[in-house]
Amino acid sequence: MMHVIRDPGPTSPPDIVLEGRFTAPDLRRYSLVPFQVEPGHHQIHVRYSYTDRIDADQFLSGGNTLDIGLFDPRGTETGSMGFRGWSGSDQLEFVVGDEWATPPYTPGPILAGTWNLLLGPYKVGPRGCDWSVEIGFDRGIPPLERELVRAGEPRSPSLPEARAGWLRGDLHCHTRYSDGDSWPSEMLHAGAETGLDFLGVTDHNTIAHVAEYGAGGSGRPIVIPGVEVTTYGGHWNAWGTDRWWEFRAPEASGVEQAMTEAADAGAFVSVNHPKPFGPAWEYDTIRSMHAIEVWNGPWARLNSAALDFWEARLRLGQRLVAVGGSDTHILRRRVTDPRHTQALGMPTTWVEAGPGADAAAIIDAMRAGRTFVSAGPAGPQLYLEPKGRGVEVSVRGGSRRSLIVQDDKGAIGAAAVESEDWSTTVAVPSASTYVRAQLVAANGELQALTSALWWPPHA
Ligand SMILES: [Zn+2]
Repeated sequence: MMHVIRDPGPTSPPDIVLEGRFTAPDLRRYSLVPFQVEPGHHQIHVRYSYTDRIDADQFLSGGNTLDIGLFDPRGTETGSMGFRGWSGSDQLEFVVGDEWATPPYTPGPILAGTWNLLLGPYKVGPRGCDWSVEIGFDRGIPPLERELVRAGEPRSPSLPEARAGWLRGDLHCHTRYSDGDSWPSEMLHAGAETGLDFLGVTDHNTIAHVAEYGAGGSGRPIVIPGVEVTTYGGHWNAWGTDRWWEFRAPEASGVEQAMTEAADAGAFVSVNHPKPFGPAWEYDTIRSMHAIEVWNGPWARLNSAALDFWEARLRLGQRLVAVGGSDTHILRRRVTDPRHTQALGMPTTWVEAGPGADAAAIIDAMRAGRTFVSAGPAGPQLYLEPKGRGVEVSVRGGSRRSLIVQDDKGAIGAAAVESEDWSTTVAVPSASTYVRAQLVAANGELQALTSALWWPPHA
């Protein structure tokens, strides 16, 4: 149900109004809404509104949340250059022009031909969702002025040294290229002041942020380019990729196909925050990921469910790497939104990438499972290595915590960590299929966990 009103008059903006209605059967199904652009335009202004609007917060229901994106005439198919951006429900208006565009939209020529709005009814309330999109051409809107609250030389904190060849980083964060509140340079500045060696940059359904981030390094974290592919049934990260991946398909088969294509193209892929309110992961059958984000934000925020999700798959023999990410969205103000209490580096993912590692070497180390995750950049550090018929576990900065070593059947060793630089060996049953270690504080909260070491090693 949609009609198009063209050219309402030379004096009365907008130039095009598109209207329609979504009802319950449209829920979580993207629609393309075409409109024509004549030759000679330089800027498109899009403004949209809809009835019974509520926030995207998954705890809210009873109203409508409508996501929006934009394709130019080069096409709407997966990976197409015609994709000019997707802003979820975060921005009710945006500009796309040949000179500049509102992040995350991509600036460039305003090609003549058929453009498509992408509309996604993430929530549809009981009264349905009546929507209206106004499009105006060549309004001469100037670019957003940027006020940077973080600039200048970052001050690195003093942190306990990592073992030679190990780097610490955060694999998951958001800027104004999706629903974050800061710019890439500010995120890198904050990463440096947190003491991170690398930063995975994962705005939702876009790679437009990657160009602005650059490569990082030189006193700032090394940038691991990435995207958080945000579907209506769960989120997954792809790192080491320079294109967007299909996020519109809501069924498991479509999500699996996109993930497999990303993996085949060389990306390293994780299922993100598979826990209640993560949002959760609804695609139980999918097997094409390399890693699980077992720790997203503060441990107490139901991450034990993500750990269970990972461990259940390890027990099935799925060689999934453990990674963590803070999912930081906010750097500029005091955080009051319960969804976003994160701080960069909480948790921190550590990788053994060798001296002088670049982004590719860091991704290779993740791929090889040489990772552990700790509560923060200060640790505690937890190293697990094969030794004889067992493993050696070394802990730095973890005194007064309990170490638990487990295989596919349960605990095979436990000890109290007695000093700040401490190690122990644990025998591993020959029937074990994997070994992993974790450190637990006196209050029961996890402080660090390693990836699984598949057993026997070098088999
Ligand atoms: Zn997410």
